[in-house]
Amino acid sequence: MSRVYNFSAGPSMLPLPVLEQAQREMLDYNGSGMSVMEMSHRSKVYDEIIKTAEADIRELMNIPENYKVMFLQGGGHTQFAMVPLNLRRNGKADYVKTGQWAKKAAAEAGKYLDVNVVASSEDKTYSYIPDLDPAKFTKDADYFYICYNNTIYGTRYTKLPEVGNVPLVADISSNIMSEVMDVSKFGLLFAGAQKNVGPAGVTIAIVREDLLGNAMDITPTMLDYKIHADAESLYNTPPCYAIYVAGLVFKWLKKEIGGVAAMQKINEEKAAILYNYLDESKMFRGTVVAKDRSLMNVPFVTDDDDLNAKFIKEATAAGFVNLKGHRTVGGMRASIYNAMPVEGVKALVEFMKKFETDNK
Ligand SMILES: *Cc1c(COP(=O)(O)O)cnc(C)c1O
Repeated sequence: MSRVYNFSAGPSMLPLPVLEQAQREMLDYNGSGMSVMEMSHRSKVYDEIIKTAEADIRELMNIPENYKVMFLQGGGHTQFAMVPLNLRRNGKADYVKTGQWAKKAAAEAGKYLDVNVVASSEDKTYSYIPDLDPAKFTKDADYFYICYNNTIYGTRYTKLPEVGNVPLVADISSNIMSEVMDVSKFGLLFAGAQKNVGPAGVTIAIVREDLLGNAMDITPTMLDYKIHADAESLYNTPPCYAIYVAGLVFKWLKKEIGGVAAMQKINEEKAAILYNYLDESKMFRGTVVAKDRSLMNVPFVTDDDDLNAKFIKEATAAGFVNLKGHRTVGGMRASIYNAMPVEGVKALVEFMKKFETDNK
């Protein structure tokens, strides 16, 4: 077996013990004589899987009692519509434009309510988190929306906006369970699983209870959070297998890593190894202002497109794959999610050092 170091932005690598356990349980899950893929979502054995997965998310993220946790489908993109459809009251919402995902979310919300873009970092290719001026906030906004970690551009909020009583909504697709978050500061959090906690196909939504039950009349049943919350994510057939694998990731995070705070420490260590080298390198440099650097997604460049291409080609051949940057930034991007071990980042930096020496 040969496994590569996979720096994909998503879907991305999963912890090896999780894949091995899924493999062991593939044909006969826990004495049921069948795969999790083959069992009824209404069966007792599956109920245990989904209930345990929810309990583990609650424990890992320290989610207060008055929040519902849902397993949904449709990815982050469906949340871009579900948020305004469900939270609309006065017909206004504030958005901070920090990249493609925030921009897309704002455009989708614009179909249902008035979007006020309170700040943007588009002027510098989203390479920083913009300062926020509370005077620009809408006082009676239905919610205030941020993309917490910007997967494509490699920025993250290190301090949350102060929005008073307006519910704070955050897309945490690329940093869920990578760092400690105070859930009580948010009205709603959502994440597609495929970056940090599981396979594509399941989306986790965490919603404060008082925000449920006011969906717009036109809201399709499947896009109403309350329907899914009341049915405990079993209104219709959920993405059963993806939830099962995510559940294995939660167990790994609890038992092997020791929880989200311990994970954050490891992630900070990994990020520091890479950023420290980028700061001292004469060939490579990071593209993001230092104070807003993501722990998960690290874009970097050389000043020569041919050299970037050569680096990606040689890195791939050496087993460091999916390092090509997003087309809007160019260069490279290393996504170092929870499942990427410290050794993977160390090995990448060693490879970069050698490349720098060889190509002086
Ligand atoms: C990947 C990503 C999305 C898009 O998710 P899909 O599941 O492909 O719809 C949205 N937001 C962020 C922050 C992402 O990283």
